[in-house]
Amino acid sequence: MINISIETTDYKHATFWAPKTKMTVDQDVKKPLDGLRALITGASKGIGREIAIALARNGAEVAINYRSSEGQAIDVARMVEESNISAWTYRADVSEYENVNEMKLFLTKYFGPIDILVNNAGINIDRMFKKMEPDQWGKVLNVNLTGVFNCTHIFLEQLIESKHGRIINISSIVGQMGNIGQVNYAASKAGIIGMTKALARELARDKVTVNAIAPGFIETDMVAGIPDKLKEKVLQNIPLGRFGQPDEIADAVVYLASPNASYITGHILNINGGMYL
Ligand code: NAD
Repeated sequence: MINISIETTDYKHATFWAPKTKMTVDQDVKKPLDGLRALITGASKGIGREIAIALARNGAEVAINYRSSEGQAIDVARMVEESNISAWTYRADVSEYENVNEMKLFLTKYFGPIDILVNNAGINIDRMFKKMEPDQWGKVLNVNLTGVFNCTHIFLEQLIESKHGRIINISSIVGQMGNIGQVNYAASKAGIIGMTKALARELARDKVTVNAIAPGFIETDMVAGIPDKLKEKVLQNIPLGRFGQPDEIADAVVYLASPNASYITGHILNINGGMYL
């Protein structure tokens, strides 16, 4: 019988969640990410949520970053507790360098230095390019690409000092093949691919691996917004004949974060049902 209870200590933008009672089963089973700490950006819902839960199930302690949805972030922390793993939730906007720096100072003090950084936070503001306002271009680039710069730059020292430094960036199929109405999003996601490859080369000497995942269409709020007619059209172009699920991305993140992936760096892993080969 697993008995779980919750203990919380509130800080300004952060909450600590620790299971009070130890699990009575599987206690001695070694997990691939035991003893490691992971920060997942944008982890209150969708793909980030599943990544946080999957990393915790595989032994990593997790820091769940979110921008606004505190309630959803807390739900994720509750799910993490079910793996008998403690978690921090921390509110920070990844597009703000100072916000991310404050998050680092806080997490370093209360959580500890991280070993795994998952740059997942992302937004889309879709418009035909002709009608795209500079602000719509800027917002998407700031969150999706500068956000990856900010988090990676600020946590880099910790990742280099870790004996198991891993950076996993969430790009997109749209950064590889383009998409109508998503010039800003495509540019940001293609930028992540270039950044991943260049950084992999730079950090190889420090034994930090840098990889990206390029998901196809995954069933989250981001895809829920697509009109039904367009969804049908998209489905026709997916050889496996269905949209992906967030846990199918999370499983790949667990693999890339694990010791099994120690010789993989600079790789862009397509998880798209065969839509782009
Ligand atoms: P989602 O909208 O469900 O979740 C996005 C998350 O990012 C949310 O938790 C949100 O709060 C967070 N976020 C947004 N702006 C932020 C900011 N400034 N600071 C911190 N957090 C912020 O989307 P999702 O589908 O789960 O997408 C997750 C990632 O996967 C994104 O980078 C997205 O571009 C990418 N992706 C998604 C799909 C898909 O089909 N769903 C496909 C390819 C790539």
